[in-house]
Amino acid sequence: MNFDIYKELKEAAGKSEVLTQEMLSGHTTFRVGGPADYFVAAKDAQAVQNVIALCISKQIPYYILGNGSNILAGDGGYRGVILQFGKEMSEVEVLEDGTIRAQAGALLSKIANAAYEKALGGFEFAAGIPGTIGGAMVMNAGAYGGEMKDVVTSVKVLTKENEIRVLINKEMEFGYRTSAVAKNGYIVLEVELKLHEASQEEIKEKMDDLKNRRITKQPLEFPSAGSTFKRPEGNFAGKLIEEAGLRGFGVGGAQVSEKHCGFVINRGKATAKDVTELMNEVIKRVKENSGIELEPEVKRLGEF
Ligand code: FAD
Repeated sequence: MNFDIYKELKEAAGKSEVLTQEMLSGHTTFRVGGPADYFVAAKDAQAVQNVIALCISKQIPYYILGNGSNILAGDGGYRGVILQFGKEMSEVEVLEDGTIRAQAGALLSKIANAAYEKALGGFEFAAGIPGTIGGAMVMNAGAYGGEMKDVVTSVKVLTKENEIRVLINKEMEFGYRTSAVAKNGYIVLEVELKLHEASQEEIKEKMDDLKNRRITKQPLEFPSAGSTFKRPEGNFAGKLIEEAGLRGFGVGGAQVSEKHCGFVINRGKATAKDVTELMNEVIKRVKENSGIELEPEVKRLGEF
């Protein structure tokens, strides 16, 4: 650890906690990943701006982490600062006109519950996605026919120049698993959503139905990062993987789920190396079998 950097980071972070040698396996749903040099649990937008300014001026690499549910972190960890939006920046407010304002670290399940409490429909699709609203902006997260682009009205971001900007829905350039946030490296601070009036019975019924579908179809009993590969145009990654004879195929502690071939799971002691080797083999064999090249959906972070 460099004590000067640590000291400056502590100063920039204000009340936000600064940890060193923090294992990323504890902050990713894959439960994989080595130590980050520095780990800041962001408490407010000012701390985020200050830490980013410091990283830019000292040329320290930094990475934004939400709930780590779409991340494969390397066994070597991360040389630089992980800035995490989690519990500390997760306020959800429902305004009188039904607008929902959520801080970047708010879990989608928390927002879905707040919407249910106020009888606001349209967010049920997101209740079972285990990420934050900030992470959901990057990938235009979606499920069961719904997408973030359907419900977002505006997004407050920090630009690469460390300036605050508010983007309206149209400016977010939402597409399949992409957005202006992904394209421009913005940092999401806050999101506003517009939902519609609905009965609580109806909302609950939808949420329960989608929850049951997930429990039945997805290997939620094992750590994973959800769908490992993007959906190829006109096809499904899981179907292609199964057709290539890879159901249950394993490397070390990583395995193609027997329940849902689109998920790579951690059977307990998987390393990032295991997962990477498995993914490469899956891509190779699916290509040989179908001619289609699968593209990873999970994002790689750090040193492998
Ligand atoms: P992270 O995984 O922490 O980060 C993902 C990316 O977003 C990284 O590039 C990170 O730098 C960036 N990021 C995070 N927060 C911010 C921020 N505030 N500002 C800027 N960049 C940020 N996804 C779906 O779309 N649909 C599904 O149905 C779905 N089901 C899943 C089921 C399971 C069991 C699991 C484990 C995952 C699933 N996912 C699904 C994947 C994942 O939950 C989503 O992609 C989610 O949006 C990621 O959010 P996160 O907060 O965990 O982001």
